[in-house]
Amino acid sequence: MKRVAIFGGTFNPIHLGHINLCQECGKHIYLDKVILIPTNIPPHKETNQLADDYHRLQMCQLAVQGDCWFEVSDLEIKRKGVSYTIHTIEKLKQQHSDWKLYFLIGSDMLFMFHKWYQYQKILEQVDLIVGAREPKEYERMVAYTQKILKNHQNIHIIHIQPFPVSSTQIRQLIQQNQPVKKYLPSNVFDYIQQHHLYQVTKEMK
Ligand code: ATP
Repeated sequence: MKRVAIFGGTFNPIHLGHINLCQECGKHIYLDKVILIPTNIPPHKETNQLADDYHRLQMCQLAVQGDCWFEVSDLEIKRKGVSYTIHTIEKLKQQHSDWKLYFLIGSDMLFMFHKWYQYQKILEQVDLIVGAREPKEYERMVAYTQKILKNHQNIHIIHIQPFPVSSTQIRQLIQQNQPVKKYLPSNVFDYIQQHHLYQVTKEMK
């Protein structure tokens, strides 16, 4: 069976914290590939200042260009509507019965996982791989998993070297004309500049 991890996000924009999470988790759990899936309408986020689907997809592709461990999927964008993870998982399972599926998330998503749509069903279908966004979160993640998620056997909390940055922080820095290069894959940085993304606040969706 192929061991495939799904990594969903708004990727608005994709940044080095995202890539670091995938790479660090990949050091601990063998994965044949990681599929980045930009959301259409994210269920857990405010959507003002969301760049066009096209741009978010392009930036994901640029971020992993030349690295065949990664793939980028437009499955959620094409499906339209709110992107519920369980629907994505079911679709991929239907299409690839020979895949063992994993789902990658950062610690902030773990701490709200019990509020996700059909989260128990998600845990029946995939193994969750979780990495910290900030230093010193490991114990809190383990405690949360024991208490709220009843120590579910399909949840793997990975000790990773975090790269603490968020897309929100990057968008704010761009608006303030502050440097952001150190948080982004270089071709994503170039793309944002070329297309003048995130420079003015605007309601997009
Ligand atoms: P925003 O600031 O716009 O809310 P974000 O930086 O949290 O965005 P998302 O695209 O919403 O990024 O996140 C997708 C996934 O990546 C989530 O599971 C999130 O926990 C994880 N993630 C985001 N940033 C990091 C980071 N720096 N380290 C580890 N995981 C991260």
